[in-house]
Amino acid sequence: MAKQLSIFDDDELSGAEAPEPAGEVSPAARVVELNNLLHRYAHDYYDLDAPTVSDAEFDRLVRELRDLEAAHPELVTPASYTQHVGGSVSEQFAPVRHARRMFSIDDAMGLAELDEWLERTDRELGASAENPVAYTCELKIDGLGVAITYENGSFVRAATRGDGAVGEDVTANVRTVRDVPYALHTAPLDAMPRGRATSLEVRGEVYMPKASFVHLNAERDRLGESVFANPRNAAAGSLRQKNPKVTAGRDLETFIYAVAEPELVPVSSQHEFLAWLADLGLSVNRNYRVCTSAKEVHAFCERAQLRRGELEYDIDGVVVKVDDFARQAELGFTARAPRWAIAFKFPPEERESVLRDIRIQVGRTGVLTPVADFDPVLVAGSTIAHATLHNLDEIRKKDVRVGDTIVVHKAGDVIPEVVGPVLAKRPVDAMPFEMPSTCPSCGSPVVHELGEVAYRCISIDCPAQTAERLEHWVSRKAMDVDGMGKELIGRLIRYGLVRDVADLYALTQEQLETLPTDRTYATAGKGHEKGDPVPTGRKTAEKLVAQLEASKGRPLARLLFGLGIRHVGASVAESLASAFGSIDALKSATEEQMCEVDGVGAVMAAGIAEFFRTPQNLEVIERLREAGVSMADAAASAGQERPQFLSGSTFVLTGTLEGMTRDEAGAALKALGAKVSGSVSKKTSYVVAGPGAGSKLAKAQSLGIPVLDQAQLESILATGELPE
Ligand code: NAD
Repeated sequence: MAKQLSIFDDDELSGAEAPEPAGEVSPAARVVELNNLLHRYAHDYYDLDAPTVSDAEFDRLVRELRDLEAAHPELVTPASYTQHVGGSVSEQFAPVRHARRMFSIDDAMGLAELDEWLERTDRELGASAENPVAYTCELKIDGLGVAITYENGSFVRAATRGDGAVGEDVTANVRTVRDVPYALHTAPLDAMPRGRATSLEVRGEVYMPKASFVHLNAERDRLGESVFANPRNAAAGSLRQKNPKVTAGRDLETFIYAVAEPELVPVSSQHEFLAWLADLGLSVNRNYRVCTSAKEVHAFCERAQLRRGELEYDIDGVVVKVDDFARQAELGFTARAPRWAIAFKFPPEERESVLRDIRIQVGRTGVLTPVADFDPVLVAGSTIAHATLHNLDEIRKKDVRVGDTIVVHKAGDVIPEVVGPVLAKRPVDAMPFEMPSTCPSCGSPVVHELGEVAYRCISIDCPAQTAERLEHWVSRKAMDVDGMGKELIGRLIRYGLVRDVADLYALTQEQLETLPTDRTYATAGKGHEKGDPVPTGRKTAEKLVAQLEASKGRPLARLLFGLGIRHVGASVAESLASAFGSIDALKSATEEQMCEVDGVGAVMAAGIAEFFRTPQNLEVIERLREAGVSMADAAASAGQERPQFLSGSTFVLTGTLEGMTRDEAGAALKALGAKVSGSVSKKTSYVVAGPGAGSKLAKAQSLGIPVLDQAQLESILATGELPE
């Protein structure tokens, strides 16, 4: 706490003075302090999906609080962090009361603590050699907990854990998660008390596979957006989206492992229950084992820790659960966690290294990204020597300096990250890092716009930017020009053959064929001397020409993504393409019209408008058009010629449709002039509901909006006539 200045020290005013805070903080004061810190960090983590301290630091503070409270039970209050399940309910989402509370799990740091828990649990359950307690050991998936409700075997609702009692309604978003079935297999349901009519709330983890997390962060970094700290935060940030389309583009998956009301299920133990869940068609993690001794539990934990790097998803420990449901019920719950389960947490794998340099990389949009180069160290199974530091704010926040001994780890077990400096080992001459004032690639002045974290090189002729722009253009998600990689692009720029993406389409077979490679001839031969560069060659050149030709016909969404418009990622490019149909329509749209498109906000609309106001960009687009690159989608231009029978009406599609996806049905409706929206409101004209329709159907009924089935939809598409 900051020492307070007293302005009454030297005068004659008498009376009591507030005591100066003691140098040694009292346990009571520390409990308050810890609670304040923990509640603030938990808010950043659970509610904003953007943690401000490492998990290890957070867990250390929780432990300190727990130990203090154990030593001074009189200091425990109902508001203490130890008495709660972390998280709350954002106003963005409707609240959902869980059928029964959702809990956290107490944790054990290290095998000694795990043993204490096993011994205590064995004792409380009266275990003996003849009657041992069986424990199901499961992987602790590092995602976020969700509750999913099925009625009559159909998906109706999904909610986050929230504060444990009340979660957030994320039905529309969970609906987009591919491995969450709309309908369960009914045979296993029939064994429940009321059969398939029983309302069943299952619980599990929504997570983002490591590979998808790496892609997502790389994409966000490229677009100059903030990156997620780890797959858990990426999953939480993706699920807690206002717009389900954003969630749909995020590649989330689930593992289900619990039920709200165990007495309803026709099995009596956790391992049988997991098998039953899998029979229902739910996604269940198969890496679990039933163990009957501490030795077996240890072996499971050690194996999981050793081999976690091989999994496609991140785990942060092992959850050990009493297997028998009756025994679970006997132990019950504390205020925040079951007594019958414990989470064995893996120690964070962190290593020390020395920061040798902070290097600047220039990206496609001119953003200067500082990258840490440090002495190679082995972390979580592979050697790392570089990590992005993202931007100057991040470097200042972490206060890392060249020469520092630093702590490094892998975020989410995959992405190398600098955790921070070891201040005790800081060299006396280590200086704070400053961004360069000129671009390290082209020497142009660097600009730092007010309110932005990024520093940019705004020269349109910067070779580093040109290379990045071209690499982005030819990349798989954009124009997908196979065979044209970083190295070839580097050579094309170096030999002055290309300066922008349109130049690619002016390349001739001959130019490509004769383009020197970086290899040289070892001996003299026909038409060349020893040491001359080897040319690219006819075959490669032919392939490249064919690939470039093929790329001219790519769909509009890829073209829009490939142009590298600020903030426009692949999924927004899709939405823009389906809303406008052609680059000319998008170019002449107002920012307000752009904002009507799903996923487009004011900042993005301004970025798009700015892009189309820049003469150099318009010139590149015209040259691309002249080269024969397609500037519109065939379906959209055909659609424009079709009478717009449905203009003025708004459709919402829900549930499954046979033989077509909702996106395809939506595109067909739009081609006839209809608007298609993701949510039901008073402005909705019709709701098309297929099997599995849930809350949207209910809302349509409550608002009295006409509900159509698939046959009626097909008749509209065929005739363009709306039902009476
Ligand atoms: P937790 O995530 O450590 O453990 C409980 C959760 O584990 C359950 O709610 C469930 O969602 C999940 N889980 C995964 N696999 C499971 C399985 N097989 N069976 C049962 N449950 C399974 O507890 P918590 O209370 O959600 O969060 C605490 C964690 O969050 C700590 O690791 C802490 O470091 C981190 N945290 C970090 C910050 C920060 O600022 N860095 C803030 C708050 C919390």
